[in-house]
Amino acid sequence: MEGKFEKLEKLNVPALDEILGVPFRVLKDGFVRVVDYLGTDESIVQAARVSYGKGTKKLREDEALIRYLLRHQHTTPFEMCEIKLHLRVPMDCWRQWIRHRTANVNEYSTRYSIAIDATETTLPDEWRTQAINNRQGSAGFLDAAVGEGLTKDEEELHKLSRQIYDKRISAGVAREQARKDLPLSTYTEAYWKIDLHNLLNFLHLRMELNAQLEIRNYAEVICNEIVKRWVPMTWKAYWDYMMDSMTFSGLEIKIITEMINGDKKRIIDYGKENGWLAEDGLPKKQNRELFEFEEKLEKLKLNKPW
Ligand SMILES: Cc1cc2nc3c(=O)[nH]c(=O)nc-3n(C[C@H](O)[C@H](O)[C@H](O)COP(=O)(O)OP(=O)(O)OC[C@H]3O[C@@H](n4cnc5c(N)ncnc54)[C@H](O)[C@@H]3O)c2cc1C
Repeated sequence: MEGKFEKLEKLNVPALDEILGVPFRVLKDGFVRVVDYLGTDESIVQAARVSYGKGTKKLREDEALIRYLLRHQHTTPFEMCEIKLHLRVPMDCWRQWIRHRTANVNEYSTRYSIAIDATETTLPDEWRTQAINNRQGSAGFLDAAVGEGLTKDEEELHKLSRQIYDKRISAGVAREQARKDLPLSTYTEAYWKIDLHNLLNFLHLRMELNAQLEIRNYAEVICNEIVKRWVPMTWKAYWDYMMDSMTFSGLEIKIITEMINGDKKRIIDYGKENGWLAEDGLPKKQNRELFEFEEKLEKLKLNKPW
């Protein structure tokens, strides 16, 4: 066995080492900072080639391999890299975050400790209006004059709920019960460790425009401040194949093909057969799939075919 294995050097990333422990501010009082990490772009390449030590291949070949792996969803090499983050997030945002089951989590305990005395606040021009096409989303902002009143209400509510919490604690109520009426805007903190494959899945889901703005803000910081420094080749491939790419259903491809062929009758037939168009050939108003297809056409700068 001796002589068969060369001595290994631990792979590290100077650009990430520089920001270890440095908080990136998110929202009014939140942050994300890197606590620790394992692996680099090179570790992904190493794992894919099942070889050890610094490879002999050129940097460009490494990048091509990473791009190939991501393009073909050959995901296990990305699981060789892990990152541990320290987060400070409002509870409503955390509730969405914690749904990502593939992370390892340790959260601040409000049974053991006094709840963090900070809430996410909203400026008068930051109140978003309900989206019409997406029942889960927002679109646009309320008039700041209306927002003034809502912001004032918010301030009063936060103040009152904290006063009541403090009163319960002073009266000797257990922390686990005293906390029950704190608002969802209260901040929590957690250590969150995840491998790169599942982190990319998290970022992909939470950076999309249909994700809630607050968690999107965190995902963008993790992506463009942290992942970019940590694994720059993977970061580039992620943007290319996951964020900036687009997928089409079979029906969408059929319609685009007929748009190129100029066969309007077939397009209308496909639309009617699939419930996108009414009998008169006009688009149905509440069809989410149709709406999303029209968004894709807009991105491609193509006019709607109906
Ligand atoms: C815009 C948006 C809206 C959402 N709305 C809602 C909502 O209204 N209600 C709601 O409850 N949730 C909602 N979610 C949460 C969503 O359903 C997922 O739970 C969450 O995004 C985590 O995604 P994930 O399972 O891919 O991630 P992870 O839990 O990190 O899992 C990563 C991958 O591991 C695999 N995996 C993990 N656990 C299992 C398992 N037990 N069995 C099989 N495979 C597994 C899957 O392939 C999964 O994609 C929403 C998410 C988004 C992004």
